[in-house]
Amino acid sequence: MEVLLLKCGEIVLKGLNRKAFEDRLLGNIKRRLKHVTPCEVAMRQSIIYVWVEDDSKTDAVLDVVRKIFGIASICRAAVCEKTLEAMQQTAETALAGHIAGAKTFKVETKRGDKRFPMTSIEVSQHIGGEINHKYAHLKPDMHTPDLTIHFEIRDEHAFVHAGPEPGAGGMPVGTNGRAALLLSGGIDSPVAGYMMAKRGLELVGIHFFSYPYTSERAKEKVVELAEIMNPYTGRMPLLVVPFTKIQEAIRDNCPQEIFTLIMRRFMMRIAQKLAEQNQCGALITGESLGQVASQTMPSMAVTGAVCSLPVFRPLIGMDKEEIVQIARKTGTFETSILPYEDCCTVFTPKHPNTKPKLPKILEAEAALDVENLIEEAVSNIEIIITGKRKKDE
Ligand code: ATP
Ligand code: MG
Repeated sequence: MEVLLLKCGEIVLKGLNRKAFEDRLLGNIKRRLKHVTPCEVAMRQSIIYVWVEDDSKTDAVLDVVRKIFGIASICRAAVCEKTLEAMQQTAETALAGHIAGAKTFKVETKRGDKRFPMTSIEVSQHIGGEINHKYAHLKPDMHTPDLTIHFEIRDEHAFVHAGPEPGAGGMPVGTNGRAALLLSGGIDSPVAGYMMAKRGLELVGIHFFSYPYTSERAKEKVVELAEIMNPYTGRMPLLVVPFTKIQEAIRDNCPQEIFTLIMRRFMMRIAQKLAEQNQCGALITGESLGQVASQTMPSMAVTGAVCSLPVFRPLIGMDKEEIVQIARKTGTFETSILPYEDCCTVFTPKHPNTKPKLPKILEAEAALDVENLIEEAVSNIEIIITGKRKKDE
């Protein structure tokens, strides 16, 4: 039988809220594993045990658990009786691959059950000696061994593993509230969502859609991005906002060099409205300082001026290459670079203003019926529930 031993990350620091944090993490783990295979998930002395009934499913369970925020480290352990023979035997079978691939090793034992008749040092010395004797290619090395064989002797069982691997880190999704992610089809916004989910935010996606300037396929791409993010973010509803009429009104009535900025201000206003309707405490965008004309400091001042909710821009200080690295890791990159147009690129000005002044923007917006345009867009959103499709298929 195999079990995953999970150590919680920062939630350990949370004092009185700790119980709420732990409950949320346990709930998130159970919910995400429900569709994989039957598992028992329980917490004991700050360690979460995931008991996998069917050993052949451990890899699949690991894949899921690696993406759950709030977990600092993961040990894949074999379970055995608390006798020296069983522990050694289990180490030899469960860690056969590790043993074959290592040149040096040591044994480390933790004895949680103080009734166990030997000290941890005695256990390590005994089993270490046996293994050293049995495998000629393995030399003991107490400082930098290739392999550390860990034994943990707990109340009911002993566990054997080769040490922890890092978990996804961060805080359990939901423990810091909920925020609205402005999700385009690009590389950046899915990464921004990933980073804020990592800080414990539950996400509601908002996508601005300019049919027929952008195609159905472009919308599908955004839904797909949300699906790929799901293992990290948990279920994320996607609100699709019809944006065509607003873009046409801007094109027909405003100076070209500030098209994009006015459009971005509409996005922020609408996002704020939808955020409030959906109990979101902040907006999240994928902006990065100076990446494009609408992401200079003066441009962001102008676009941020329309909303009172905090705007989180987790990529603000990152290079494109660093962003791409995360997009590759989470798996959104390949979908993001599919060549479907985004509404931002539809009416891109040739010479965008990179140092906009607010009075000029306000003057241009005076030509538009801002309130009604927003009202109409908000009342015609389409809600897509992501994270459901695969299981229903
Ligand atoms: P991305 O790679 O996320 O598309 P970008 O570098 O293309 O970002 P912009 O197109 O200027 O930058 O958009 C900046 C941010 O505005 C995006 O990261 C996203 O949060 C939001 N945004 C842009 N277009 C849309 C859209 N069609 N729907 C929802 N949000 C959008
Ligand atoms: Mg974009």
